[in-house]
Amino acid sequence: MNHKPMSVNSDGHLECPACGSDYTHVRHVTVQSRQEDSEDQFFRTNTTDGTVTLGDPDARACSGRRHSIALWVDCEHCGSAFDVVLSQHKGQTEVFTELRREPR
Ligand SMILES: [Zn+2]
Repeated sequence: MNHKPMSVNSDGHLECPACGSDYTHVRHVTVQSRQEDSEDQFFRTNTTDGTVTLGDPDARACSGRRHSIALWVDCEHCGSAFDVVLSQHKGQTEVFTELRREPR
């Protein structure tokens, strides 16, 4: 996995983990629901047109044993795409980014 800590600049803007630009766009929200160690349930919402997809097989938030939420973000500057993931791990919530598409 290519996890990096989530980075936010002094203006409170999310920064791209590949290039550091704060010109980013949230494209999808994916929710992974799961009781501990049981089967995952996914749904993804397109933030632009509101389309909802159930059972998303490429949800990147599926690591770990419990539930998570992932924001699919595109970078306007370098063309990369990454997920901002909030993942439940035991009694804590991990927050990290994971590269989804390499920069151009
Ligand atoms: Zn970038």
